[in-house]
Amino acid sequence: AKAAGTPMRIGVNSGSLPKHLHELERESSVEALVAAAVEFVELMERLDFDDFKVSIKSTSVPNTIASNRLLAQKIDYPLHLGITEAGTKWTGSLKSAVGLGTLLADGIGDTIRISLSTFHAEEEVKVAWEILKALKLRERGPVLIACPTCGRLQFDMDAVVTEVEQRLEAYDDPIEVAVLGCAVNGVGEASHADFGITGAKNQGVVYSKGEALRKVPQDQLVEVLFEEIDKYYAAGKRVVRDEREAAEGAAFLQEIEEENAGELTPERIAAMEAAAASGEALQNGLSLPMSKGPRKRVTLDESESPTAGRRFSRS
Ligand code: SF4
Repeated sequence: AKAAGTPMRIGVNSGSLPKHLHELERESSVEALVAAAVEFVELMERLDFDDFKVSIKSTSVPNTIASNRLLAQKIDYPLHLGITEAGTKWTGSLKSAVGLGTLLADGIGDTIRISLSTFHAEEEVKVAWEILKALKLRERGPVLIACPTCGRLQFDMDAVVTEVEQRLEAYDDPIEVAVLGCAVNGVGEASHADFGITGAKNQGVVYSKGEALRKVPQDQLVEVLFEEIDKYYAAGKRVVRDEREAAEGAAFLQEIEEENAGELTPERIAAMEAAAASGEALQNGLSLPMSKGPRKRVTLDESESPTAGRRFSRS
């Protein structure tokens, strides 16, 4: 590899550790994986070769997390992350998101690989991108926001979200698009979205950045949403607003909000809980970011893992 100028990936797999590490493996599979990786790294260094990255892979999410955390403390070479034979598209994506997401959030990992039981390798790439986008490590393509749904849902959320998600695949720009199942909260917590739709009483509103653009019959919501997105790009990334239509949409949202002012929606319950937590904290002499009082500065120790010692940490 050195003569050819070719980089290498050193792979250590829980299923194929060298024989002399089998006893250690019985005591601690994590330490055995890390010991194997360090031995290969030392061999490369003796050969004066440093154009490589190291990959420790296991089918176990906790072992992958623990071994990569330990390895990151021991060597200073790029790490390639993956969960071996993670499973089907559904379970494998979740396992990969939890395992790789935890490590990436710790700042560990330089390249990633998703292994799913599928012939459609492009699905693995999509999952990898979603993990990177969720952590805001990379921006690529639109981000879809969808409400959790509840009894107030005004349309078939599954069908609408699936259609919106599929049609958004044609766009490269990292715009945020929200789908809200009802207009009871107005545009609520998704008001920051670049574009969004919400519905009530067989009608719906397409909005942008918290402001209504158009009121349309509910069965045209998705079509009009994409019309507005296309107009935005045609105008050089400028929201094109028809004042009369925007006013009609805003009045409709206002009317729905007023009619449902007393409803306890998931969003309102969350807002009340946040307000209660803020009040409680103030009583205890603390100030939370959402409260209006003076904020208490919290100093983070950069050398500590942000998840160490937390309730769900394994450390
Ligand atoms: S109240 Fe909230 S969660 Fe329920 S459908 Fe409306 S937007 Fe979705």
